[in-house]
Amino acid sequence: MRPNILDPLFGRASALPGVGPKTAKLFDRLLAKPGAEARVLDLLFHLPINIVDRRARPKIAEAPLDTMLVLKVRVAEHRKPQGRYSKAPYKVLVEDETGDVELVFFLANPEWIERSLPIGVTRWVSGKLELYDGRRQMVHPDRVLDEAGIARLPALEAVHGLTEGLQQRYVQRAVDGALSTLPSLPEWHDASILKANALLSFSESLERVHHPQAPDDIAPMSKPRQRLALDELLAQQLALRLVRARMRRQPGRESKGDGRISDKIETALPYTLTNAQRRTLAEIRADLASDKRMLRLVQGDVGSGKTIVAALAMATIVESGRQAALMAPTEILARQHYERLAPLLEPTGIRIALLTGRARQSERAALHQRIGEGEIDVVVGTHALVSDDLAFRDLSLAVVDEQHRFGVQQRLALGAKGKAVDVLVMTATPIPRSLVLTYFGDMDSSLLDEKPPGRSPIDTRALPASRIDEVVASLRRALETGARAYWICPLVEENEDLDLAAAQERYEDLKKIFGDVVGLVHGQMKGAERDAAMENFQAGRTRILVATTVIEVGVDVPEATIMVIEHAERFGLAQLHQLRGRVGRGAGKSSCLLLYKGPLSEVAKARLTTLRQTEDGFRIAEEDLRLRGEGEILGVKQSGTPGFRVADIILHARLLATARDDAELILRRDPELSSERGQALRILLYLFERDEAVRLLRAG
Ligand code: ADP
Ligand code: MG
Repeated sequence: MRPNILDPLFGRASALPGVGPKTAKLFDRLLAKPGAEARVLDLLFHLPINIVDRRARPKIAEAPLDTMLVLKVRVAEHRKPQGRYSKAPYKVLVEDETGDVELVFFLANPEWIERSLPIGVTRWVSGKLELYDGRRQMVHPDRVLDEAGIARLPALEAVHGLTEGLQQRYVQRAVDGALSTLPSLPEWHDASILKANALLSFSESLERVHHPQAPDDIAPMSKPRQRLALDELLAQQLALRLVRARMRRQPGRESKGDGRISDKIETALPYTLTNAQRRTLAEIRADLASDKRMLRLVQGDVGSGKTIVAALAMATIVESGRQAALMAPTEILARQHYERLAPLLEPTGIRIALLTGRARQSERAALHQRIGEGEIDVVVGTHALVSDDLAFRDLSLAVVDEQHRFGVQQRLALGAKGKAVDVLVMTATPIPRSLVLTYFGDMDSSLLDEKPPGRSPIDTRALPASRIDEVVASLRRALETGARAYWICPLVEENEDLDLAAAQERYEDLKKIFGDVVGLVHGQMKGAERDAAMENFQAGRTRILVATTVIEVGVDVPEATIMVIEHAERFGLAQLHQLRGRVGRGAGKSSCLLLYKGPLSEVAKARLTTLRQTEDGFRIAEEDLRLRGEGEILGVKQSGTPGFRVADIILHARLLATARDDAELILRRDPELSSERGQALRILLYLFERDEAVRLLRAG
């Protein structure tokens, strides 16, 4: 049971003062899992992604690019879009004695602009300057203020991620409300660790992050962020260890298999397994055959062929007369796995089914029944697999794909659906060797460190965005020879709407050039719509797929050989690598074009160079670690490891090591977390929602 002291934090955000029903809906969309309501806790952990520093008031000519700033300007000229239905932006030219800037408003209300920025008046505008066609622009200033307005604004202000229709000040007000409900919590860290790292308390740190007193306060390596990261990492490490200990205590079952099904599958493959696949499979089969429970991680770079390994492991289970399940983080991926596995498994007599949240009620009930009666051997699905009303006849192996997207909770929940279920988790996120042990604790792991043969290297180039016409021209040539291409437009949380608008605009541009072969997919599409867009591309009905990063993980269309990434400078190294991994999957020669908008920082340059030089995900991860370690840690939004709210296992590697050692010590001294500190640690586990581990304590 959750300690009562935390109740206020798990209450609904809509109950906070000043949060009306409309804003509450926006918070749900921004912060909650689909279908759920945002909670006070979600607001507390909705950490700023940027800061507005209004202390400096640069002149236009000296103002730096790409950082939040305030300019004092005179409104010079309005440049209205021509034609009533034009999608062109409304621009307003403003100036000071040193230069001028174009304020750019997409889809804006012209009356508001005319009212807020009459010609001739003095205004303070805050936002980021960028260069566009050699002109200074500020796209959607976050504030347009007069003298009285600027006087009322704090000199430093946190900037939170938004969603369409939500305004910064509503977030800040709600966050303030959330902070005021924060109960006084007992300290869960060892005093000496706090002292050695010069860290504040949990509540002081949260307060400081949301109300920064210096621009550095919101940086990932600031003391307040470090404190929160350490909290989260300790919770993660404790949970990991509790799970592991519990798995160790429980006997497993021997699933030896006799090879009669898996041999058939292997023979039918159009290729032979790589040595790495063979070795990994042998490791998995040894685990399955033993009477201990398996908890094994398979790390394999994109395209290393994890799926077939999972399929063969599941076949071994079916040979033993038991069931296996494969859980993927998204509908698209579950469907794709199903579509690839069915033709492999069905000819051998394995009965395979797809179970996702989108199945109709009646279909789902029928499927549940067949799974319960053992008429299905292998189930592929999404979270729907862990729904309470699904019972397996005899689930013996749970495979979890792209495990970063799932918490310990879901892994365990699937594992709890059978007697002594063996668990295999697969991840494509390369984790530097130096961090694997720390991050995964003593979980067994296999490494698919070899790519299937016959892949030609991906020709990777970086080009300034100004050369986009050349890219379009070469795309045209490639399309004539039947190629398929992805075109990625980045989505950064800072202003999701503008980014989406950019993707939509690009889609329309390309459609004008290439016609109906252009498709679009983004995260705000409805599930069915998104599937349709993916399917059209998979089937070749569309041949250019404009996408936001929703396609980052796992999507496999071997015919796609071209990857264009716009604003490559905004992505982290690991993400670029993942995106590039979507091509180069078939025999055809593939290319990746990284379009960047200069000027590039040294680190951004180094990132693009690394990417051009290597396709080895592990080398890239090491390089990422090195580049990030070099201190130029600016882009807060790039940090954060999937599955974590605050922590970034690369940036916070040292804290991770601290948390690991401490978790070990804690559980050695107090395995049931029953001491006074143990009670505080239970609160920590609930706070970071790793509380499934607490339940394990009780279950013993
Ligand atoms: P990932 O590890 O990224 O999940 P997949 O399992 O999707 O990779 O495999 C990528 C592609 O490689 C698939 O099209 C698959 O059929 C193919 N593949 C897998 N193993 C081999 C192999 N040993 N030889 C050739 N192709 C392979
Ligand atoms: Mg995969």
